[in-house]
Amino acid sequence: MVAIDGPAGTGKSSVSKLLASKIGASYLDTGAMYRAVTLAVLDAGVALDDPTGIARVVSAVDIELIPNDEGSTVLLDGRDVSVPIRTDHVTSAVSAVSAVPEVRTKLVALQRQNAQGRFVVVEGRDIGTVVFPSADVKIFLTATPEARAERRHKQNLASGRESDHAAVLESVNRRDHLDSTRTVSPLRAADDAIVVDTSDKTLSEVLDELSALVETRIGASER
Ligand code: C5P
Repeated sequence: MVAIDGPAGTGKSSVSKLLASKIGASYLDTGAMYRAVTLAVLDAGVALDDPTGIARVVSAVDIELIPNDEGSTVLLDGRDVSVPIRTDHVTSAVSAVSAVPEVRTKLVALQRQNAQGRFVVVEGRDIGTVVFPSADVKIFLTATPEARAERRHKQNLASGRESDHAAVLESVNRRDHLDSTRTVSPLRAADDAIVVDTSDKTLSEVLDELSALVETRIGASER
């Protein structure tokens, strides 16, 4: 089990998918689960400052992740929501929804169920600290806010979306602040995580570094 945590824009998703494929593991995107619940909350018209309403929505939804070549297809009550969960609307609401304890309890159980006993790269915010504290390898990716905003800005432009650099920086900072200061399972590095700063590294440099770490940790324990 390889746990990869860190804030938005560190290259976490891209490198986690590539790492999983390189080492022959499966890949679990836990952020996609929080996004799917957020979409259900927004669709139900429940206010983001109504934790009781959010808890009611989460108790009724069914979320499934089906692996595919790009990562995973996300099903919300059987409907493919892989595209709508990536909109700005969901992104700006997800931190409020993911701070609700009932949401975390349900999704953590689902994550454990999905990953138990498998060779898997699990990506999120609290994987090394809460979900799988005994993961074989724990990696925490960081990067300066400017580097993270720059990546997001370029991703937006590359996918044909409008993007304003200053607004992206503000949104990245806001989400990290909310994720790091919430009471339940805040974003933080586990004490035994290896911290990798990706600010000045290319994706392939980060991939090489993480593969080497996995080989050292897991390869050595198998020999
Ligand atoms: O990784 P991604 O940006 O898709 O995550 C979306 C949001 O889901 C995060 O900003 C965070 O609020 C929440 N999340 C979480 N715990 C995880 C994964 C994601 O709280 N393990």
